[in-house]
Parts: sequence; structure tokens; C-alpha cells
Amino acid sequence: MKIEITKTTAPKAKPDSSTLGFGKIFTDHMFVMDYSVDKGWHDAKIVPFDNISLHPASTVLHYGSEIFEGLKAYRRKDGKVQLFRPIENIRRMNNSAERLCLPQIPEEDAMQILDTFVGVEQDWTPSAEGTSLYIRPFMFGNDENLGVHAVHNAKFIIIASPVGSYYAEGINPVKIMIEDEDVRAVRGGTGYVKCGGNYAASNRAGERASKKGYSQVLWLDGVERKYIEEVGAMNVMFKIDGEIVTPKLTGSILPGITRKSCIEVLKDEGYTVNERLLSIDELGEALKNGKLQEAWGCGTAAVISPIGELCYKDVKYTINNGEIGEVTQHLYNTLTGIQWGKVEDKYGWTHLV
Ligand SMILES: *Cc1c(COP(=O)(O)O)cnc(C)c1O
Repeated sequence: MKIEITKTTAPKAKPDSSTLGFGKIFTDHMFVMDYSVDKGWHDAKIVPFDNISLHPASTVLHYGSEIFEGLKAYRRKDGKVQLFRPIENIRRMNNSAERLCLPQIPEEDAMQILDTFVGVEQDWTPSAEGTSLYIRPFMFGNDENLGVHAVHNAKFIIIASPVGSYYAEGINPVKIMIEDEDVRAVRGGTGYVKCGGNYAASNRAGERASKKGYSQVLWLDGVERKYIEEVGAMNVMFKIDGEIVTPKLTGSILPGITRKSCIEVLKDEGYTVNERLLSIDELGEALKNGKLQEAWGCGTAAVISPIGELCYKDVKYTINNGEIGEVTQHLYNTLTGIQWGKVEDKYGWTHLV
């Protein structure tokens, strides 16, 4: 496909690595492409980063037709820039589009777009330890009328943001609150889809947890509020009496690429890994009788995030003395090693830009 490139005439200065944070600074350009039922995807272009203009009746503003992805470009020691399993993000985005009646993008076109855009912006990939270039593709319905129907017009945009090390002060285990009131998703809904609406529905519980000193919420299933699902923007895994357990993908859990990678690495190395239902009662038992050995979250932002404390119905439980466990540390080293090109990528997961 043809991608028109218009370079900025006013490139910004690259920020100092120590000031990056997450998603606050944006690169010089963005990718934009429009869709209409008549023309299909058209006008693919890379343009200077700027505000976008929307009709006040634009579908996304009223009915929430929006999906997104998140992946990172990593600067290797030899200066080259690489992506981690980008085809998985493309496939997941198309699954999300299917659920929300947004148009899909053929895989080869999406890969070409990603390669071209990251190619143009690759100088923005920072090189300090633990830093990366976060890439945020997103798509939304953009019909200019208030009728409720499948989307006839859409926009696909990619922006990018150099982000700091998640663990600038070393890997600190997080404290997580188990939410027993609000639910994030139900089967048949959009839980398995990366869409803005899921986040909008999560904010209230997140705020409540934050006020009590917890960084994120662990969600239970929406029907019985009994089975563990996932954490805010991460999937979750436990080591219980030697077995590695992660909630199985029942339709209300986001199929994380980091989750998938953890499972593949652990199975490859001979660990017992089970994707199954895990009830809050089973977890509680394991906590009480000391069989819960490790707990961690996994997602692109932090990669692996050890969980040091869980709170359920105002009772606090410390895990592994609040320290990072052996398997958690091993997964962190393996995945970040492959991502930054420090460890041999025997799985063929990296994609050079
Ligand atoms: C993005 C996301 C994850 C993690 O997925 P990765 O592909 O590993 O980054 C987990 N849960 C939710 C709700 C998410 O949006």
C-alpha cells in the first residue's frame, strides 16, 4: 500500500531519559488513515504530530466505538531498533475490530504501516537502561451523525511516546486490591477486546483502590465474583505449591501477549503451567496455608510486575515476604533480555525495524 510521508519542518528536541515517565511526551509524527464503506481504507499518511479535528456527532464521542493496541520498540546495544511480536498486536487489533464492528486492516498492510511509521520515528527510541518507545495504534468510529448502527467511517491512527524505565528504582513489588463490587467484564461482552470502554468502566474501582494505597485492582469474574480474572492492565499469574496457574481465557479476560510469552517460556523450560479457573477461595486457602509462593502481573508496560501484597475484603495478605520470587525474576530477565536484545531470541519473537 502507498503511505505518503510529510516530515515536520520543526523537529522537537529529544527529551532527557530521566524525565520520560509514561505517555507524556510524543514524537514528531503520527500515522493517520481513513476508512469509509465506499472506499475501504484510504489516504494512509505519516504527518507531523498534531491535534485532530472531529465532528461533534462523531460516533466515538457518543457510543464509544474505540479500540487500541500497545507495543514497544526497544533499542539494542548495537543501536538497532526492534519490536516484540508485533504480528500478535495486529491480530489482536483485528479481533477487537471484529467485536466492535470496526473495519479490520489486512495483516500485511498493518505490518507495513508499523514498519514504516516506526522507521520514521526510530531516532526517538531512547537507549538508557529500561527505556523504550511506546507505540499506541488506535481506531475509532467516525460517522458524523447520531444514529446507532455499525460503523461506516473510521479512523486509524498511530502515535508514539518515548517512555522511561518502569523500574527506575529497582523492581518494587506492587500492592493490589481484590475488587468485590464493580466488575470489569462479562462473557459475551468486550472483556477480551482492547477497547477504551473497558477502561472507562474500571476507573471507579481503580480510584477506590488508589485511595487505600493500592496501585491496581484484581478483578473477579462478572457473574459469580468468584474466579480470578486479571489486574487493571495486566494479566496475572500465581505459583501455588509448585504449579504455575493463570486464569484461562474465558472471553472476559484480555489475551495478553506478555501472558502468552510467559506461558510459552515456562512450558518450554519444563515448568508445570496450567490455564484454568482459579477461585478466590482456592487462592485464600493457598495464602493461609503458605502454599502461595509467588504472584505477578504481566503486560507490555511493566513486562513483569511482582505482587507483594493482596487485599481482599479489607484483610491484607503478604506474598513471599513482599519480595520478588524466583520464577518472577526469571521471567523478567528472560523477556526483557529478548526484548532489548541481550538474550538470544530462540523463539523468533523479535522484529527488526
Ligand atoms: C493490554 C492489556 C493487558 C496486557 O496485554 P499485553 O499484550 O501483554 O500488553 C492485560 N489486560 C488488559 C486489560 C489490557 O488492556
